[in-house]
Amino acid sequence: MINIVLFGKPGAGKGTQAEFLKGKYNLTHLSTGDIFRFNIKNETELGKLAKTYMDNGDLVPDEVTIKMLQSEVDKNQDSAGFLFDGFPRTIAQAQALDAFLATKNEKITATIALEADDEILVARLLERGKTSGRVDDQDEEKIRNRYQEYNEKTAPLMEYYTGQNKFYPVNGIGSIADITERLSTVIETL
Ligand code: AMP
Repeated sequence: MINIVLFGKPGAGKGTQAEFLKGKYNLTHLSTGDIFRFNIKNETELGKLAKTYMDNGDLVPDEVTIKMLQSEVDKNQDSAGFLFDGFPRTIAQAQALDAFLATKNEKITATIALEADDEILVARLLERGKTSGRVDDQDEEKIRNRYQEYNEKTAPLMEYYTGQNKFYPVNGIGSIADITERLSTVIETL
């Protein structure tokens, strides 16, 4: 099995790249943001719980997010591997993921980070907000809050995965095809 964490700040292009990589490498794409949005749209209990956090650009509490992720992995028992997009976002989530995969004799193969400057990404998200319908993409203050959440809670994961010799930074600026190529180069050396 190959299990990849696609890492990066909001707007770095994780979702876009995941769409290409999942087909190319036959991976199950799990985007926690997409799963939360699906639950909000369908007005489930989980959706109701996540909505206020998401609308404000805050992270949804670990306990809820970890449980949801584990249940999605369990729904895809026959998968050849996973592409985690937007998860883990905290050290607690990363530790829970490692422990959970270990119970299945599996592990994270690599964490690949799409790198780009904040200012480019904020502008990208505001542009996306014009068409995405996402409340959290439309207000600069909420976007800034998402970056603050990233800096405080998610950025420490770079050290976490570097310590496991699994962290691969990739330049996230360029054409979609060029970036897919850069990511593929990393995946093919794993
Ligand atoms: P995304 O689509 O990945 O940008 O996620 C949108 C929002 O969903 C985030 O701002 C959080 O509110 C929530 N979310 C997604 N993934 C996670 C996660 N792993 N932990 C906590 N909150 C998350």
